Amino acid sequence: MKLYNTLTRNIDDIKPINPPVITIYTCGPTVYDYPHIGNWFTFIRYDILVRTLMASQYKVKWVMNITDVGHLTSDADEGEDKLVNKAKKENKNAWDIAKFYTEYFVQSLDKLNFIQPTMLPKATDHIIDQINLIKELEAKGYTYKINDGIYFNTSLFKSYKDFARLDLDEQQANSRIELNTDKKNFADFALWKFSPKSSNRDMEWDSPWGKGFPGWHIECSAMCLKYLGETIDIHSGGIDHIPIHHTNEIAQSTALSGKPLANIWMHTNHILINDQKISKSLGNGITLEEIENKGINLMALRLLILESHYRSQSKFSWDALYAANNRLLRYINFAVRRYQPKTHGNNNQTLDLITPLQNDLNTPQALSNLELFIDECENNPPTNNTLLKAINSINECLGIDLAQIKDISNELKSIIKKRENARLNKDWHLSDQLRDQLLSQNIAIDDSEYGPIWKYLKI
Ligand SMILES: [Zn+2]
Repeated sequence: MKLYNTLTRNIDDIKPINPPVITIYTCGPTVYDYPHIGNWFTFIRYDILVRTLMASQYKVKWVMNITDVGHLTSDADEGEDKLVNKAKKENKNAWDIAKFYTEYFVQSLDKLNFIQPTMLPKATDHIIDQINLIKELEAKGYTYKINDGIYFNTSLFKSYKDFARLDLDEQQANSRIELNTDKKNFADFALWKFSPKSSNRDMEWDSPWGKGFPGWHIECSAMCLKYLGETIDIHSGGIDHIPIHHTNEIAQSTALSGKPLANIWMHTNHILINDQKISKSLGNGITLEEIENKGINLMALRLLILESHYRSQSKFSWDALYAANNRLLRYINFAVRRYQPKTHGNNNQTLDLITPLQNDLNTPQALSNLELFIDECENNPPTNNTLLKAINSINECLGIDLAQIKDISNELKSIIKKRENARLNKDWHLSDQLRDQLLSQNIAIDDSEYGPIWKYLKI
């Protein structure tokens, strides 16, 4: 299997360190709000990576962290903690905010038919691990203390700029963040932040340097090391993470181990709405509930996400989502043929989704194979076995679970039968009446050479 690797800027073969096990670390959500549609685009792309590896017979060990402390409003360690901000706004405790949005996230993974990550560790459950890493970095001379915390000295990690091919002077010139002038270098980042002297934080811990909380980047290094080891097979995240968060993770982890943190770095591109990036501050972040409230099935969201390649800038529009919902209806009506054995034929070709996915997760090509397969099955009906195998493969590779679509009731089946008999008896009046009755119950009938085939009119 091949995947684009940000580290080499090439499409590389995946060569796991300990096959058939493959280790993946994903930078997970910061649990201070409902994830928006841009977040789901990103996470579903990682789910597709995991599905493809599993379908390729790897044993996937997938760790996705939950950031419940230390992610400041700027990724570069300035501003307020996102959870603290939200807690203030809602007049709640930061712990309650974290609990609520973590539970929401986990439930949503289920709703979107995700492969469950092997672990979803929380930053707040790993404070000691983070303190220990900072102590080790301190012992190796990579840290220094200033007024608001303990910082990593990036000038001592010689390859700091390599991963992101950073031009730090340019980055500094373009920065809109007010700089902490006590830092030794522009790119230096916080490992440990001190609690304010005048007040207590909801989330704070004792440490050898004083009461405070860990920086955002160190949590990923700590949990990745603890659960997956010094070097992992694949590390994934959004492209926003390349210049700061992932660059900093690499600096800390490699400074400690002397080894690469990951062999392959997978990054997903942005999603645009009306040519704008999605962000909480622009207020264009659509939630799953808004989609469901419009009567759109969440599997259609998955389908829309798969229509674009993870490295392209995808666009979201409601029109495109409604179109995906119609496309989903076609797939559903393909799948319900399994309840209609009389309509099966001899077509036993196989649906190939895995080949395009193994080629740098080419989801648009996989969907195009699926469309062609369904076209073919409409002309030349599949055997029952072909149909069941295809339904299984669509779920296994794409996470679109068509097996959950239910059969119709016996009552509806008997109306279909009565209508068929009326047609055979040339009782057109009764036959039309029964067809209308079925239509009112969301069922349409196609009269084929195999007899009547029922379909859902809408999802
Ligand atoms: Zn991370």
